[in-house]
Amino acid sequence: MRETPPGEQVVYRHMGLQDGHLLAVARERGAYEAARKAFVMGSAAVIEEVKKSNLRGRGGAGFPAGMKWSFIPKDTSRPHYLICNADEGEPGTCKDREILRRDPHLLIEGMIIAAFAVQAERGYIYIRGEFTREAEVLQRAIDDALTAGLLGENCLGSGFRFHLAVHRGAGAYVCGEETGLIESLEGKKGQPRVKPPFPANVGLYDCPTVINNVETLAAVPMIIERGGDWYASLGVPKSNGTKVFSVSGHVLRPGNYEVPLGIPLKSLIEDYAGGVRGGWENLKGVIPGGSSTPVLRAEVCETIAMDYESLAKAGSMLGAGSVIVMDKSVCIVRAIARLSRFYRHESCGQCTPCREGTGWLAQIMRRLEAGEGKNGDVELLQDVCASMSGKTICALGDAAAMPVAGAIRAFPEEFAYHIKHGRCMVG
Ligand code: SF4
Repeated sequence: MRETPPGEQVVYRHMGLQDGHLLAVARERGAYEAARKAFVMGSAAVIEEVKKSNLRGRGGAGFPAGMKWSFIPKDTSRPHYLICNADEGEPGTCKDREILRRDPHLLIEGMIIAAFAVQAERGYIYIRGEFTREAEVLQRAIDDALTAGLLGENCLGSGFRFHLAVHRGAGAYVCGEETGLIESLEGKKGQPRVKPPFPANVGLYDCPTVINNVETLAAVPMIIERGGDWYASLGVPKSNGTKVFSVSGHVLRPGNYEVPLGIPLKSLIEDYAGGVRGGWENLKGVIPGGSSTPVLRAEVCETIAMDYESLAKAGSMLGAGSVIVMDKSVCIVRAIARLSRFYRHESCGQCTPCREGTGWLAQIMRRLEAGEGKNGDVELLQDVCASMSGKTICALGDAAAMPVAGAIRAFPEEFAYHIKHGRCMVG
Protein backbone atom coordinates (compact mmCIF):
# COMPACT_ATOMS: atom_id res chain seq x y z
CA MET A 1 0.00 0.00 0.00
CA ARG A 2 1.43 3.36 -1.04
CA GLU A 3 0.74 6.61 0.73
CA THR A 4 1.34 10.26 0.18
CA PRO A 5 5.08 10.61 0.85
CA PRO A 6 6.06 11.92 4.32
CA GLY A 7 6.33 15.68 4.28
CA GLU A 8 3.57 16.03 1.69
CA GLN A 9 0.71 15.29 4.07
CA VAL A 10 -1.23 18.32 5.13
CA VAL A 11 -3.71 17.12 7.71
CA TYR A 12 -2.96 13.44 8.31
CA ARG A 13 0.58 14.22 9.25
CA HIS A 14 1.93 10.91 10.52
CA MET A 15 0.63 8.65 7.78
CA GLY A 16 3.60 7.12 6.09
CA LEU A 17 5.77 7.81 9.13
CA GLN A 18 7.42 4.86 10.80
CA ASP A 19 6.29 4.56 14.45
CA GLY A 20 3.79 7.42 14.11
CA HIS A 21 1.38 5.28 16.16
CA LEU A 22 3.56 5.55 19.28
CA LEU A 23 2.61 8.25 21.77
CA ALA A 24 6.16 9.52 22.25
CA VAL A 25 6.69 9.92 18.49
CA ALA A 26 3.30 11.56 18.00
CA ARG A 27 3.88 14.00 20.89
CA GLU A 28 7.30 14.96 19.54
CA ARG A 29 5.46 16.07 16.44
CA GLY A 30 2.92 18.13 18.34
CA ALA A 31 0.12 15.67 19.10
CA TYR A 32 -2.40 16.85 21.73
CA GLU A 33 -1.33 20.51 21.53
CA ALA A 34 -4.47 21.31 19.52
CA ALA A 35 -6.60 19.75 22.28
CA ARG A 36 -4.85 21.96 24.82
CA LYS A 37 -5.64 24.98 22.62
CA ALA A 38 -9.30 23.89 22.26
CA PHE A 39 -9.75 23.82 26.05
CA VAL A 40 -8.58 27.44 26.21
CA MET A 41 -10.85 28.48 23.31
CA GLY A 42 -14.03 27.04 24.84
CA SER A 43 -16.56 24.71 23.26
CA ALA A 44 -18.61 27.33 21.38
CA ALA A 45 -15.46 28.74 19.75
CA VAL A 46 -14.33 25.25 18.73
CA ILE A 47 -17.65 24.61 16.97
CA GLU A 48 -17.39 28.00 15.22
CA GLU A 49 -13.85 27.20 14.03
CA VAL A 50 -14.93 23.85 12.59
CA LYS A 51 -17.94 25.52 10.94
CA LYS A 52 -15.60 28.09 9.41
CA SER A 53 -13.41 25.31 7.99
CA ASN A 54 -16.40 23.81 6.15
CA LEU A 55 -15.10 20.35 7.00
CA ARG A 56 -17.61 17.94 5.48
CA GLY A 57 -18.16 14.37 6.64
CA ARG A 58 -15.60 12.16 4.92
CA GLY A 59 -17.54 8.93 5.40
CA GLY A 60 -19.65 9.51 2.31
CA ALA A 61 -22.53 11.82 3.18
CA GLY A 62 -20.50 15.06 3.05
CA PHE A 63 -22.57 16.76 5.77
CA PRO A 64 -20.76 19.73 7.42
CA ALA A 65 -19.24 18.52 10.70
CA GLY A 66 -19.49 21.85 12.55
CA MET A 67 -23.18 22.09 11.77
CA LYS A 68 -23.75 18.53 12.98
CA TRP A 69 -22.05 19.40 16.26
CA SER A 70 -24.16 22.53 16.65
CA PHE A 71 -27.37 20.42 16.57
CA ILE A 72 -26.47 18.83 19.92
CA PRO A 73 -28.62 20.43 22.63
CA LYS A 74 -26.76 22.71 25.02
CA ASP A 75 -28.67 21.20 27.95
CA THR A 76 -26.54 18.49 29.56
CA SER A 77 -29.20 16.98 31.84
CA ARG A 78 -29.00 13.86 29.63
CA PRO A 79 -25.55 12.41 28.82
CA HIS A 80 -24.08 13.31 25.44
CA TYR A 81 -22.14 10.75 23.42
CA LEU A 82 -19.53 10.91 20.69
CA ILE A 83 -19.10 7.96 18.34
CA CYS A 84 -16.38 7.48 15.78
CA ASN A 85 -17.54 5.42 12.85
CA ALA A 86 -14.58 3.18 12.02
CA ASP A 87 -16.71 0.48 10.40
CA GLU A 88 -15.09 1.12 7.02
CA GLY A 89 -16.79 -1.45 4.80
CA GLU A 90 -17.52 0.17 1.43
CA PRO A 91 -15.77 -1.91 -1.23
CA GLY A 92 -12.80 0.09 -2.50
CA THR A 93 -12.32 2.05 0.72
CA CYS A 94 -9.20 1.60 2.86
CA LYS A 95 -8.33 5.07 4.15
CA ASP A 96 -9.65 4.91 7.72
CA ARG A 97 -7.75 1.75 8.53
CA GLU A 98 -4.56 3.54 7.49
CA ILE A 99 -5.23 6.40 9.89
CA LEU A 100 -6.14 3.95 12.68
CA ARG A 101 -2.98 1.95 12.16
CA ARG A 102 -0.54 4.75 11.46
CA ASP A 103 -1.78 7.67 13.50
CA PRO A 104 -4.29 6.64 16.18
CA HIS A 105 -3.35 9.61 18.39
CA LEU A 106 -4.52 12.03 15.70
CA LEU A 107 -7.96 10.40 15.87
CA ILE A 108 -7.99 10.31 19.68
CA GLU A 109 -7.04 13.98 19.81
CA GLY A 110 -9.75 14.83 17.28
CA MET A 111 -12.24 12.95 19.44
CA ILE A 112 -11.18 14.78 22.60
CA ILE A 113 -11.73 18.10 20.82
CA ALA A 114 -15.08 17.02 19.34
CA ALA A 115 -16.24 15.62 22.69
CA PHE A 116 -15.30 18.87 24.40
CA ALA A 117 -17.19 20.85 21.74
CA VAL A 118 -20.42 18.88 22.26
CA GLN A 119 -19.84 18.21 25.96
CA ALA A 120 -19.74 14.44 25.63
CA GLU A 121 -18.08 12.65 28.53
CA ARG A 122 -18.06 9.28 26.86
CA GLY A 123 -17.00 8.19 23.40
CA TYR A 124 -16.87 4.98 21.42
CA ILE A 125 -14.87 3.96 18.42
CA TYR A 126 -16.95 1.41 16.54
CA ILE A 127 -14.33 -0.44 14.55
CA ARG A 128 -14.93 -2.99 11.83
CA GLY A 129 -14.51 -6.49 13.24
CA GLU A 130 -12.01 -7.53 10.59
CA PHE A 131 -9.60 -4.73 11.59
CA THR A 132 -7.83 -6.87 14.17
CA ARG A 133 -4.44 -5.19 13.97
CA GLU A 134 -5.97 -1.71 13.90
CA ALA A 135 -8.07 -2.46 17.00
CA GLU A 136 -4.92 -3.57 18.84
CA VAL A 137 -3.00 -0.45 17.84
CA LEU A 138 -5.92 1.75 18.80
CA GLN A 139 -6.39 0.10 22.18
CA ARG A 140 -2.73 0.53 22.98
CA ALA A 141 -2.89 4.20 21.96
CA ILE A 142 -5.94 4.76 24.19
CA ASP A 143 -4.23 3.01 27.12
CA ASP A 144 -1.10 5.14 26.63
CA ALA A 145 -3.15 8.35 26.40
CA LEU A 146 -5.02 7.40 29.56
CA THR A 147 -1.79 6.69 31.46
CA ALA A 148 -0.35 10.01 30.28
CA GLY A 149 -3.40 11.93 31.53
CA LEU A 150 -4.50 12.94 28.05
CA LEU A 151 -7.77 11.06 28.37
CA GLY A 152 -9.93 10.13 31.33
CA GLU A 153 -11.08 12.08 34.36
CA ASN A 154 -9.01 15.19 33.71
CA CYS A 155 -7.90 15.45 30.06
CA LEU A 156 -4.57 17.34 29.88
CA GLY A 157 -5.31 18.86 33.29
CA SER A 158 -8.21 20.84 31.83
CA GLY A 159 -10.87 19.52 34.16
CA PHE A 160 -12.73 18.00 31.18
CA ARG A 161 -13.68 14.35 31.59
CA PHE A 162 -13.68 12.05 28.56
CA HIS A 163 -13.59 8.27 28.54
CA LEU A 164 -13.06 6.42 25.29
CA ALA A 165 -13.71 2.76 24.46
CA VAL A 166 -13.18 0.60 21.38
CA HIS A 167 -16.10 -1.55 20.27
CA ARG A 168 -15.48 -4.18 17.62
CA GLY A 169 -18.24 -4.81 15.09
CA ALA A 170 -18.99 -8.16 13.52
CA GLY A 171 -18.52 -7.34 9.85
CA ALA A 172 -21.95 -6.14 8.71
CA TYR A 173 -21.77 -3.38 6.09
CA VAL A 174 -25.06 -1.88 7.26
CA CYS A 175 -23.53 -1.10 10.67
CA GLY A 176 -21.63 1.67 8.89
CA GLU A 177 -25.01 3.44 8.70
CA GLU A 178 -25.11 5.60 11.81
CA THR A 179 -28.35 4.35 13.35
CA GLY A 180 -27.55 0.72 12.49
CA LEU A 181 -24.25 1.32 14.25
CA ILE A 182 -26.02 2.72 17.32
CA GLU A 183 -28.33 -0.29 17.48
CA SER A 184 -25.34 -2.62 17.25
CA LEU A 185 -23.46 -0.67 19.93
CA GLU A 186 -26.49 -1.04 22.19
CA GLY A 187 -26.20 -4.81 21.76
CA LYS A 188 -29.08 -5.25 19.31
CA LYS A 189 -29.27 -6.34 15.67
CA GLY A 190 -27.60 -3.71 13.51
CA GLN A 191 -30.77 -2.58 11.75
CA PRO A 192 -31.05 1.12 10.88
CA ARG A 193 -33.69 3.24 12.61
CA VAL A 194 -36.39 5.30 10.96
CA LYS A 195 -35.43 8.99 11.05
CA PRO A 196 -36.48 11.39 12.50
CA PRO A 197 -35.66 11.49 15.34
CA PHE A 198 -32.03 12.04 14.42
CA PRO A 199 -29.12 10.93 16.63
CA ALA A 200 -28.34 14.56 17.56
CA ASN A 201 -31.44 14.35 19.77
CA VAL A 202 -32.17 10.66 20.17
CA GLY A 203 -29.04 8.62 19.58
CA LEU A 204 -27.14 6.14 21.72
CA TYR A 205 -29.33 5.06 24.68
CA ASP A 206 -31.81 7.68 23.41
CA CYS A 207 -29.39 10.48 24.30
CA PRO A 208 -27.88 13.25 22.11
CA THR A 209 -25.13 11.69 19.99
CA VAL A 210 -22.65 12.88 17.40
CA ILE A 211 -21.30 10.33 14.95
CA ASN A 212 -18.39 11.19 12.71
CA ASN A 213 -16.13 9.19 10.44
CA VAL A 214 -12.45 8.52 11.30
CA GLU A 215 -11.07 10.81 8.59
CA THR A 216 -13.43 13.63 9.62
CA LEU A 217 -12.43 13.50 13.30
CA ALA A 218 -8.74 13.14 12.44
CA ALA A 219 -8.91 16.43 10.49
CA VAL A 220 -10.03 18.37 13.56
CA PRO A 221 -6.65 18.84 15.35
CA MET A 222 -5.10 20.61 12.36
CA ILE A 223 -8.19 22.80 11.97
CA ILE A 224 -7.86 23.91 15.60
CA GLU A 225 -4.09 24.28 15.31
CA ARG A 226 -4.05 26.31 12.10
CA GLY A 227 -7.56 27.74 12.03
CA GLY A 228 -10.77 27.18 10.10
CA ASP A 229 -9.83 29.83 7.51
CA TRP A 230 -6.59 28.02 6.72
CA TYR A 231 -8.42 24.73 6.18
CA ALA A 232 -11.11 26.42 4.09
CA SER A 233 -8.39 27.94 1.89
CA LEU A 234 -7.45 24.42 0.72
CA GLY A 235 -9.44 22.69 -1.99
CA VAL A 236 -12.16 24.45 -3.97
CA PRO A 237 -15.25 26.47 -2.96
CA LYS A 238 -17.84 24.26 -1.17
CA SER A 239 -15.41 21.32 -1.16
CA ASN A 240 -12.74 22.64 1.18
CA GLY A 241 -9.73 20.98 2.69
CA THR A 242 -7.91 17.82 1.80
CA LYS A 243 -9.18 14.29 1.29
CA VAL A 244 -7.55 10.90 1.51
CA PHE A 245 -8.37 9.09 -1.71
CA SER A 246 -7.97 5.32 -1.79
CA VAL A 247 -6.92 4.51 -5.34
CA SER A 248 -7.23 0.85 -6.32
CA GLY A 249 -7.66 -1.32 -9.39
CA HIS A 250 -5.65 -1.09 -12.59
CA VAL A 251 -3.08 1.50 -11.58
CA LEU A 252 0.63 1.01 -11.10
CA ARG A 253 0.79 2.40 -7.53
CA PRO A 254 -2.47 1.75 -5.70
CA GLY A 255 -2.66 3.45 -2.32
CA ASN A 256 -4.03 6.18 -0.07
CA TYR A 257 -3.19 9.70 -1.17
CA GLU A 258 -3.98 12.89 0.68
CA VAL A 259 -4.61 15.72 -1.79
CA PRO A 260 -6.70 18.90 -1.85
CA LEU A 261 -10.32 18.38 -2.89
CA GLY A 262 -10.91 19.46 -6.46
CA ILE A 263 -7.81 17.74 -7.83
CA PRO A 264 -8.40 16.52 -11.41
CA LEU A 265 -9.07 12.77 -11.40
CA LYS A 266 -6.53 12.37 -14.19
CA SER A 267 -3.83 13.97 -12.06
CA LEU A 268 -4.71 11.77 -9.06
CA ILE A 269 -4.33 8.66 -11.20
CA GLU A 270 -1.36 9.73 -13.30
CA ASP A 271 0.71 11.79 -10.86
CA TYR A 272 0.03 9.92 -7.61
CA ALA A 273 -1.15 6.40 -8.41
CA GLY A 274 1.42 5.78 -11.14
CA GLY A 275 -0.99 5.86 -14.07
CA VAL A 276 -3.32 3.32 -15.64
CA ARG A 277 -1.94 -0.12 -16.45
CA GLY A 278 -1.10 0.01 -20.16
CA GLY A 279 -1.38 3.82 -20.32
CA TRP A 280 -4.21 6.34 -20.04
CA GLU A 281 -5.69 5.28 -23.39
CA ASN A 282 -6.25 1.82 -21.87
CA LEU A 283 -8.71 3.28 -19.31
CA LYS A 284 -12.30 2.09 -19.55
CA GLY A 285 -13.90 3.77 -16.56
CA VAL A 286 -13.60 4.77 -12.92
CA ILE A 287 -15.88 4.28 -9.94
CA PRO A 288 -14.96 7.53 -8.19
CA GLY A 289 -16.21 7.22 -4.60
CA GLY A 290 -16.63 3.58 -3.59
CA SER A 291 -18.79 0.75 -4.88
CA SER A 292 -22.10 2.57 -4.41
CA THR A 293 -21.18 5.51 -6.66
CA PRO A 294 -22.03 5.46 -10.39
CA VAL A 295 -19.17 4.62 -12.75
CA LEU A 296 -17.69 7.28 -15.06
CA ARG A 297 -16.60 6.63 -18.64
CA ALA A 298 -12.97 7.32 -19.60
CA GLU A 299 -13.98 10.45 -21.58
CA VAL A 300 -15.49 11.96 -18.42
CA CYS A 301 -12.42 10.98 -16.36
CA GLU A 302 -10.30 13.09 -18.71
CA THR A 303 -11.56 16.37 -17.25
CA ILE A 304 -13.55 15.68 -14.07
CA ALA A 305 -12.44 17.24 -10.76
CA MET A 306 -12.63 15.26 -7.53
CA ASP A 307 -14.98 17.35 -5.44
CA TYR A 308 -18.55 16.93 -4.21
CA GLU A 309 -20.13 19.33 -6.70
CA SER A 310 -18.28 18.31 -9.88
CA LEU A 311 -19.00 14.62 -9.34
CA ALA A 312 -22.67 15.28 -8.56
CA LYS A 313 -22.92 17.31 -11.76
CA ALA A 314 -21.46 14.36 -13.67
CA GLY A 315 -24.16 12.07 -12.23
CA SER A 316 -21.92 10.38 -9.65
CA MET A 317 -20.71 11.08 -6.12
CA LEU A 318 -17.51 11.69 -4.16
CA GLY A 319 -18.69 9.17 -1.52
CA ALA A 320 -15.80 8.01 0.63
CA GLY A 321 -13.26 8.93 -2.07
CA SER A 322 -12.53 5.36 -3.08
CA VAL A 323 -11.33 5.48 -6.64
CA ILE A 324 -11.63 2.13 -8.42
CA VAL A 325 -9.82 2.27 -11.75
CA MET A 326 -10.84 -0.18 -14.48
CA ASP A 327 -8.92 -0.73 -17.68
CA LYS A 328 -10.27 -2.11 -20.94
CA SER A 329 -9.96 -5.71 -19.77
CA VAL A 330 -12.94 -5.18 -17.44
CA CYS A 331 -16.42 -6.42 -18.29
CA ILE A 332 -18.68 -3.78 -16.74
CA VAL A 333 -21.62 -6.19 -16.52
CA ARG A 334 -19.50 -8.68 -14.59
CA ALA A 335 -18.09 -5.97 -12.30
CA ILE A 336 -21.55 -4.61 -11.45
CA ALA A 337 -22.98 -8.13 -11.04
CA ARG A 338 -20.34 -8.71 -8.37
CA LEU A 339 -21.34 -5.52 -6.55
CA SER A 340 -25.01 -6.49 -6.74
CA ARG A 341 -24.23 -9.78 -5.01
CA PHE A 342 -22.50 -7.83 -2.27
CA TYR A 343 -25.50 -5.55 -1.66
CA ARG A 344 -27.95 -8.46 -1.68
CA HIS A 345 -25.85 -10.11 1.01
CA GLU A 346 -25.63 -6.94 3.11
CA SER A 347 -29.29 -5.82 3.04
CA CYS A 348 -30.65 -6.09 6.57
CA GLY A 349 -34.05 -7.02 5.16
CA GLN A 350 -36.16 -4.52 7.09
CA CYS A 351 -37.68 -2.74 4.10
CA THR A 352 -39.33 -4.47 1.17
CA PRO A 353 -37.84 -2.36 -1.66
CA CYS A 354 -34.32 -3.09 -0.44
CA ARG A 355 -34.82 -6.70 0.65
CA GLU A 356 -36.57 -7.67 -2.59
CA GLY A 357 -34.86 -5.16 -4.88
CA THR A 358 -31.31 -6.19 -4.00
CA GLY A 359 -32.30 -9.79 -4.72
CA TRP A 360 -33.84 -8.89 -8.07
CA LEU A 361 -30.83 -6.81 -9.10
CA ALA A 362 -28.39 -9.58 -8.16
CA GLN A 363 -30.47 -12.19 -9.97
CA ILE A 364 -30.91 -10.23 -13.21
CA MET A 365 -27.28 -9.12 -13.25
CA ARG A 366 -26.19 -12.72 -12.73
CA ARG A 367 -28.19 -13.97 -15.68
CA LEU A 368 -26.97 -11.13 -17.90
CA GLU A 369 -23.40 -11.97 -17.00
CA ALA A 370 -23.99 -15.65 -17.65
CA GLY A 371 -25.27 -14.87 -21.14
CA GLU A 372 -28.87 -15.71 -20.27
CA GLY A 373 -30.15 -12.14 -20.51
CA LYS A 374 -33.45 -11.40 -22.25
CA ASN A 375 -34.82 -8.43 -24.13
CA GLY A 376 -36.39 -6.15 -21.56
CA ASP A 377 -33.86 -6.98 -18.81
CA VAL A 378 -32.27 -3.54 -18.95
CA GLU A 379 -35.66 -1.86 -18.61
CA LEU A 380 -36.51 -4.23 -15.76
CA LEU A 381 -33.27 -3.34 -13.97
CA GLN A 382 -34.05 0.35 -14.39
CA ASP A 383 -37.55 -0.20 -13.04
CA VAL A 384 -36.26 -2.07 -9.98
CA CYS A 385 -33.68 0.67 -9.33
CA ALA A 386 -36.37 3.35 -9.51
CA SER A 387 -38.52 1.35 -7.07
CA MET A 388 -35.67 1.29 -4.55
CA SER A 389 -34.14 4.77 -4.72
CA GLY A 390 -35.30 7.05 -1.94
CA LYS A 391 -37.90 4.56 -0.75
CA THR A 392 -36.06 2.80 2.07
CA ILE A 393 -35.18 3.40 5.72
CA CYS A 394 -31.48 3.84 5.10
CA ALA A 395 -29.23 4.62 2.14
CA LEU A 396 -28.33 0.99 1.42
CA GLY A 397 -31.28 0.72 -0.97
CA ASP A 398 -29.90 3.65 -2.99
CA ALA A 399 -26.36 2.33 -2.64
CA ALA A 400 -27.42 -0.94 -4.28
CA ALA A 401 -29.42 0.73 -7.06
CA MET A 402 -26.96 3.46 -8.04
CA PRO A 403 -24.14 1.30 -9.44
CA VAL A 404 -26.59 -0.63 -11.62
CA ALA A 405 -28.47 2.42 -12.90
CA GLY A 406 -25.17 4.29 -13.37
CA ALA A 407 -23.56 1.48 -15.35
CA ILE A 408 -26.58 1.20 -17.67
CA ARG A 409 -26.36 4.97 -18.25
CA ALA A 410 -22.61 5.01 -18.84
CA PHE A 411 -22.14 1.71 -20.72
CA PRO A 412 -25.46 0.84 -22.42
CA GLU A 413 -23.60 -0.90 -25.26
CA GLU A 414 -22.13 -3.50 -22.87
CA PHE A 415 -25.55 -4.50 -21.57
CA ALA A 416 -26.96 -4.65 -25.11
CA TYR A 417 -24.02 -6.79 -26.27
CA HIS A 418 -24.52 -9.25 -23.43
CA ILE A 419 -28.18 -9.69 -24.31
CA LYS A 420 -27.58 -9.96 -28.05
CA HIS A 421 -24.50 -12.19 -28.05
CA GLY A 422 -24.77 -13.97 -24.71
CA ARG A 423 -21.24 -12.97 -23.71
CA CYS A 424 -19.22 -9.90 -22.83
CA MET A 425 -17.51 -7.52 -25.24
CA VAL A 426 -14.04 -7.98 -23.79
CA GLY A 427 -13.87 -11.71 -24.34
FE1 SF4 B 1 -32.15 -2.54 5.87
FE2 SF4 B 1 -31.94 -2.11 3.25
FE3 SF4 B 1 -33.89 -0.99 4.63
FE4 SF4 B 1 -31.37 -0.16 4.99
S1 SF4 B 1 -32.55 0.04 3.12
S2 SF4 B 1 -32.87 -0.55 6.55
S3 SF4 B 1 -30.29 -2.12 4.73
S4 SF4 B 1 -33.58 -3.19 4.30
